[in-house]
Amino acid sequence: MATPAGTPVIEASDLTRVFRRPKTSLTRPGEEVHALKGVSLSVARGERFGIVGESGSGKSTLLKLLCGLDQPTSGSILFDGKEIVGRRDLRFLRNDLQIVFQDPMSSLDPRMKVRDIVAEPLVALGLPAGDRVAQLLKEVGLPPAAADRYPHQFSGGQRQRIAIARALAPKPKVLVADEPVSALDVSVRGQILNLLADLIDSHGLTLVFVSHDLSVVRHVCESVAVMSEGQVVERGQVDEIWADPQHEYTRTLLRAVPTLEGLL
Ligand code: ADP
Ligand code: MG
Repeated sequence: MATPAGTPVIEASDLTRVFRRPKTSLTRPGEEVHALKGVSLSVARGERFGIVGESGSGKSTLLKLLCGLDQPTSGSILFDGKEIVGRRDLRFLRNDLQIVFQDPMSSLDPRMKVRDIVAEPLVALGLPAGDRVAQLLKEVGLPPAAADRYPHQFSGGQRQRIAIARALAPKPKVLVADEPVSALDVSVRGQILNLLADLIDSHGLTLVFVSHDLSVVRHVCESVAVMSEGQVVERGQVDEIWADPQHEYTRTLLRAVPTLEGLL
């Protein structure tokens, strides 16, 4: 998608994040984990940007920083041109960026009706819910009656639809998804990915999408950053990287691509 030069919606520079594992000895400090070792990336408005890498490569750590849910050890993140690192008032970010997590069971409050779950971000922002809930449920392919039921009354795929409806409720500019189909039955992954792709399109959203599976990223994203051991080792158009990976690590990832191809 064409974007005016110089106006990325997310611009991260030289991000590092060091965790310290719990002490195992009284005399020595806990071991340091360098989860991110200098990651820079930028996401243009309207771009569908994937982040791929094996488990432990730092994808979720990076995503949490981009969402303002964690602070980097060093580095800078501009969202819409505004620095979010070290900033206390992140209300603008809560409004403009919404997240879909891997496991819809743990991200949806089991005691709340779907109506209240979907309306929650609106209520939190002091916005009227009105008939938005029914509209959103329709958009994600759920019947109006779903509003009066509880999360456990739905299948995994349907729960992820509910999570997507909630994420869309405050009309965010950016949707962030961390392995949104990894916890789902293989048989419904394609449906949820297609739904996401359609909604990104119809709402004109920017997407930041994390997966350990490049075939999944390829299904919904146009560009991708490949992460290994806390660094971006390759970045480009996903079709080009799929056809002609430059980095040995990417080749290894591609050889490991499993079963999804025939299913989508
Ligand atoms: P991914 O999402 O790619 O699987 P993560 O970002 O979750 O990777 O983790 C990257 C590395 O950082 C891993 O080695 C992980 O164990 C470590 N890590 C992540 N969160 C913490 C934490 N809160 N405390 C200590 N280590 C962490
Ligand atoms: Mg992760």
